[in-house]
Amino acid sequence: MIMPQSRLDLFVDRMVSQRACLDHAASVIADMDGPVFELGLGNGRTYHHMRHIMPARDIYVFERAIASHPDSTPPDDMVLLGDVFDTLPDALARFGPTAALIHADLGGHNRKKNDLFAQKVSPVIEPLLAVGGLMVSSDRMYFDTLVEQPLPDGAVQGRCFIYRRN
Ligand code: SAM
Repeated sequence: MIMPQSRLDLFVDRMVSQRACLDHAASVIADMDGPVFELGLGNGRTYHHMRHIMPARDIYVFERAIASHPDSTPPDDMVLLGDVFDTLPDALARFGPTAALIHADLGGHNRKKNDLFAQKVSPVIEPLLAVGGLMVSSDRMYFDTLVEQPLPDGAVQGRCFIYRRN
């Protein structure tokens, strides 16, 4: 009988997959203009990594309550504070369909809840992505027009997802 993975295994898989997918996405969009969006700041680990690998990019952070590590806290003018169901439509009015990369890590520990949330939030994220842009997510998303991409080496199937606007 195959033992299911431990919570530690799942956590490690999610972390290495986020890093592999973000590194890959940053290199794919390197020649594109347009802002980068981080949806869900949390502790700020992925935001910190994105700053590290894309130092010249404008990275806007969407979060309802800032509680990040001090080293990983974005400047006030780069934060869209509030619920993403309010701030993403605001961002569409402000930026249009220009985002080169959108990273979403909005989920918690309940997989079923995360899936329901992904179904609700997908249509709000979808119009923000520029042609050629990538969307990286820790949950499977439900897009009509974005196309799922193969994962890079180092990412674990099912722990991270990449979508592209062709
Ligand atoms: N990627 C982060 C890191 O590396 O530290 C962890 C993000 S944490 C898993 C998810 C974050 O999404 C939480 O800080 C939570 O407040 C935020 N979040 C969840 N639902 C949200 C919503 N509807 N609007 C805005 N922020 C939300």
